[in-house]
Amino acid sequence: MTLFERIIAREIPADIVHEDERCIAIRDINPQAPVHVLVIPKTVIPRLGEAAAGQEELLGHLLLTAAAVAKREGLGDSGFRIAINHGHDGGETVPHLHVHVLGGRAMTWPPG
Ligand code: AMP
Repeated sequence: MTLFERIIAREIPADIVHEDERCIAIRDINPQAPVHVLVIPKTVIPRLGEAAAGQEELLGHLLLTAAAVAKREGLGDSGFRIAINHGHDGGETVPHLHVHVLGGRAMTWPPG
């Protein structure tokens, strides 16, 4: 099981801010901004590039959930950053697709 599957199964504790039949959203254990939430599909997709045709609806649901979480966290007006890290150079450390929602401070561009 991936780390996030174990969180979904409640084997590992997490600060859950949203859950529905398709995904869970938790606060990142090592936040990089005042708000840092991960939106994670319950179906394991290792990383974005391995998502399959037919998973468009799930991917769209993750993005809509990320935007809804950002709004609920008070970031609707100030703005927020969505990030998905793919592979080594992308900074991926957990091989279970997740959407980072970051906000509460001004982000820099280009990202590091
Ligand atoms: P990534 O580097 O894109 O794969 O993102 C993985 C994220 O998971 C990192 O930001 C970690 O801080 C976060 N993380 C790792 N373990 C946990 C955990 N037990 N609970 C919440 N977030 C975690």
